[in-house]
Amino acid sequence: MRLAVIGVGLIGGSFALALKQAKAVSHVVGVGRSEQNLKLALERGIIDEMARDPAQATKDADLVLVAAPVAQFSSIFSSLRNSRAIITDAGSTKRDVIAAARNALGKDVSRFVPAHPIAGAEKSGAAAANAELFAGKRVVLTPLEENPQEAISTVRSAWQACGAKLSEMNAEEHDAVLAAVSHLPHLLAFALVHEVAGRKNSEQLFSFAAGGFRDFTRIASSHPEMWRDICAANKDRLLDEVSRFSRKLEQVKALLDDPASLEKLFAEARDARDRWIRSS
Ligand code: NAD
Repeated sequence: MRLAVIGVGLIGGSFALALKQAKAVSHVVGVGRSEQNLKLALERGIIDEMARDPAQATKDADLVLVAAPVAQFSSIFSSLRNSRAIITDAGSTKRDVIAAARNALGKDVSRFVPAHPIAGAEKSGAAAANAELFAGKRVVLTPLEENPQEAISTVRSAWQACGAKLSEMNAEEHDAVLAAVSHLPHLLAFALVHEVAGRKNSEQLFSFAAGGFRDFTRIASSHPEMWRDICAANKDRLLDEVSRFSRKLEQVKALLDDPASLEKLFAEARDARDRWIRSS
């Protein structure tokens, strides 16, 4: 199978490496914005060939993975109109990505099987790619009613060859679920670090910040463009989550005058987290 990866970063690079390791692909062409990143991907053996033009690069591909920030997808899909390949993606939001694909590909959207790997890191670029990133992790497919079974099977097999566990959901549900457990936590981490960094005594504050602050804010080291695009694309669902969280903060604030109830809330939260950790 000939694979084309558009956006050879953490996710695109890891997909290519995992498929190479599984011997599921014979040739990988990488398309990107940054020549330096593509050169590194060549050096690391992630790709076999680099290209600037997605239309040219995907001409002979059997499978295309789109793994750029989601605001780039419209123009990328437009450049895939003449390709015959099956297309999948790694975008962290799905309603906007599907709308962009329908708009650019028209009837040919049947070749596009949307996907989102629930695996990642705060690191980016080809330097961070690793063949094990998806091993044992979930990948959510949000298939379209136009997708022939054969296209879905090709995409399922590729993600399975990366070691991923597959689930299916519709795009609406996907975006609501991910807003709660991924997009809101990222927004909070960025906001907290920004708030602390903006204070007059920020140096002092950072010098006393320890493991708790480090754990809570790890994801504020994530790629700003990628997260800008995700938050903008999923704004309605994210706003629902911000409102819910604001109400929760008000509840917790009120409990500062009621230590027994505060402890009960903390215990319930700890038990829920422990159960989640044990089951994941
Ligand atoms: P990354 O920054 O590591 O890689 C993105 C790559 O896309 C970069 O190399 C960049 O140069 C390239 N790029 C940008 N615009 C492009 C364009 N127009 N054409 C071709 N290449 C372009 O980011 P990543 O973490 O690999 O994320 C890629 C996608 O996967 C995003 O859509 C993101 O939402 C999604 N995703 C990320 C994570 C994560 O934790 N990092 C997890 C799941 C899904």
